Amino acid sequence: MPKKIIKKGKKPHKNKPTSKKYTKYKIEGEKIIREKFCPRCGPGIFLMYSQGRLYCGKCHYTSFDKKEAPKTD
Ligand SMILES: [Zn+2]
Repeated sequence: MPKKIIKKGKKPHKNKPTSKKYTKYKIEGEKIIREKFCPRCGPGIFLMYSQGRLYCGKCHYTSFDKKEAPKTD
C-alpha cells in the first residue's frame, strides 16, 4: 500500500476578490454619476439588480422596478 500523504499545517493563503464598488461610480466631466444606492443605508451602499428588482445586501431592502411595482410605503 502506498503511503497516504496528509498535509499538515497552515492552508495556503488566497487573496480575497476585491470589492468592485468603484465600478458603481462614473465620472462625466466634472460630475460624478453614481448607481442607485440604498435609501435605508444611504449613499455608498449600492443595490444589486436581479429579477426585476433592486436589492440591498446589507439591510435586505428591496425595491421593484418602476413598471411592475406599485408603491409601498
Ligand atoms: Zn440597505
